[in-house]
Amino acid sequence: MKNELIVLPHDPNWNQARLAWNLSADQQPAAVALPESADDVVAVVRWARERGLRIAPQGTGHNALPLGSLAHTVLLKTERMRGVEIDAPAQRARVEAGVLWAEVSEAAAPHGLAALAGSSPDVGVVGYTLGGGVSWLARRYGLAANSVTAVELVTADGELVRADAQQNTDLFWALRGGGGSFGVVTALEFELYPVSEVYAGVLFFPLERGAEVLRAWRHWVDNVPDEVTSVGRFLQFPPIPDIPEPLRGGSFVVVEAASLLGKDSTDALLSPLRALGPQMDTFATIPVEKLKHLHMDPEHPVPGHGDGMLLSDFNDAAIDALVHVAGAGSGSPLLTVEVRHGGGALGRHAPGAGALPSIDGQFLMFAAGMAPTPEMGAAVKAHVELVQNALSPWDSGRTYLNFAEKRERGDRLFGELTYRRLQTVKATVDPDDVFRSNHPVRLPAAEARRAA
Ligand SMILES: Cc1cc2nc3c(=O)[nH]c(=O)nc-3n(C[C@H](O)[C@H](O)[C@H](O)COP(=O)(O)OP(=O)(O)OC[C@H]3O[C@@H](n4cnc5c(N)ncnc54)[C@H](O)[C@@H]3O)c2cc1C
Repeated sequence: MKNELIVLPHDPNWNQARLAWNLSADQQPAAVALPESADDVVAVVRWARERGLRIAPQGTGHNALPLGSLAHTVLLKTERMRGVEIDAPAQRARVEAGVLWAEVSEAAAPHGLAALAGSSPDVGVVGYTLGGGVSWLARRYGLAANSVTAVELVTADGELVRADAQQNTDLFWALRGGGGSFGVVTALEFELYPVSEVYAGVLFFPLERGAEVLRAWRHWVDNVPDEVTSVGRFLQFPPIPDIPEPLRGGSFVVVEAASLLGKDSTDALLSPLRALGPQMDTFATIPVEKLKHLHMDPEHPVPGHGDGMLLSDFNDAAIDALVHVAGAGSGSPLLTVEVRHGGGALGRHAPGAGALPSIDGQFLMFAAGMAPTPEMGAAVKAHVELVQNALSPWDSGRTYLNFAEKRERGDRLFGELTYRRLQTVKATVDPDDVFRSNHPVRLPAAEARRAA
């Protein structure tokens, strides 16, 4: 075992090693492992098992909060595994477990290819993809999980295996949407798409126009083709130097969109929204890899709390309910409350799909705020719940794993039948429950104990 592979609480780099991207997660594992290769991962899994420790794989820690206590657990961080290979003729990428989305987008772009990357440049490819993966191209190409062609992972008995459409097919199914309960993924292979430019941007309006703009956007999405993926959103930027002028300290209702239709057709589509007179309009033709800045996500670790829900509809009454709790004059401390438009390829079962074949809800809501102090964290958490309660009449009954930052029931994350099948796969590949996911698939016996 290489010395620098395992970091222990008395080591000088302990506090750095245990950090998550979400700085609100105070991770206190038994040890942190920093593998550089699949062989290192095999060594770590065997080391942990010999000591009776569990293993929590982590890429960046964007979704670290639901992990809870990491006692008796090795936090296995893949941040040193950063290889990216692009096979341009086959339109495929193979990436190692610690790769961030910006790294794939930048490597694919010179070949005129795009990946189904998340809105944020520093979200990890593996965590995002195992949970589904909703990109700016989602309504055209579906969930990132269903573009995966192979997964390499280290299993609970310390073996490196490949799961694809020909071998370890149950595992291949489970990994595409079922999260990180089945092993340590060391690399993913997935499809790329022939997209080099998009017409994309943001229309900014004052927050006071929340109801009017969201209603217009809601009406608008009824008639947009699958080539357009868009978001209606409240944004309240703090007055901090990180935020560029003229956004710093400002409060807005915005419509963000990325279109594969080109400038002229998209301009024609956008005209009813532009007719509302946005105070700022950033739409332009941009290289596809620049989509990573469109959503204005923080591009470095921050403390925060957030949570999401899937909505069966976002009608006028839902918009009024949202404006009441998060719009102008509501006193909301939330930085963002977004509603992403689903449907299109996101709403259709992808052929040969994995555990998450589609998103079961027309709209995906996510609300979040910064938590630089415990008091602000408590206020943000309470307000996220207020938003969820206000929208509960439109709850689709399901939750999207990647937007769930609190523990959720398995049937809400996956649907009852899928959850049972995931439990069967878990019992086969990890009968001792070695692997801890932030959104765990529990062994059937453990689930029964919880229910009792
Ligand atoms: C600012 C921001 C923007 C976001 N934008 C989007 C978006 O546009 N679309 C979207 O769908 N989601 C988005 N998300 C949600 C994001 O996809 C989830 O937080 C996802 O879990 C992040 O993956 P990660 O690897 O970066 O995080 P981590 O917290 O490191 O991983 C989350 C979980 O994935 C599993 N996992 C990670 N690596 C491995 C591995 N090597 N082997 C096995 N299991 C593993 C583990 O169970 C882990 O607990 C966003 C989140 C944030 C905070």
